[in-house]
Amino acid sequence: MTIADDLKASVRAIRDYPKPGIIFRDITTLLGDARAFRRAVDQLVQPWAGSKIDKVAGIEARGFILGGAVAHQVSAGFVPIRKKGKLPHTTVRIAYSLEYGLDEMEMHADAVKPGERVILIDDLIATGGTAEGAVKLLRQIGAEVVAACFIIDLPDLGGAAKLRAMDVPVRTLMEFD
Ligand code: 5GP
Repeated sequence: MTIADDLKASVRAIRDYPKPGIIFRDITTLLGDARAFRRAVDQLVQPWAGSKIDKVAGIEARGFILGGAVAHQVSAGFVPIRKKGKLPHTTVRIAYSLEYGLDEMEMHADAVKPGERVILIDDLIATGGTAEGAVKLLRQIGAEVVAACFIIDLPDLGGAAKLRAMDVPVRTLMEFD
């Protein structure tokens, strides 16, 4: 097995979750495997090793786990992007599209200063609605989105292509149909 196969094998497939017909890609098994977790974090940000990154923004909730580790790795601060109503200080908010309907996400208005270089992190990109909202939110407060990194890409759903069309470099470590 190559390293990439090994990493892919550490992700568990859960059939019919959260509803019939869906295969949920469960990364808790990757996170629970010390070597796989370290490899995933190292590889996610490998293209930016040595570049100046001011902040890592993680999307609730799995993006927090990965984003915290990535921020430590690149010596950056960590910024949580949360579902609405969870952050205590003044926020900026944006509506974003889910598979069915809309939701809103927020970040603290002072979490990133204009011109700061930010890497966005989440576990998986599917349609890209969530990540697109996060990029818009970061740009709204003047961040330079240097890259968006995900462990898993579901390329058939077009999310990575959507972000690249917004001039965001995208890094993913594995694909599933
Ligand atoms: P999108 O907005 O790109 O359609 O969906 C991506 C968001 O949904 C991410 O925040 C991701 O955590 C979550 N998500 C959707 N499907 C899965 C899945 O199969 N596994 C995991 N771990 N997260 C998923």
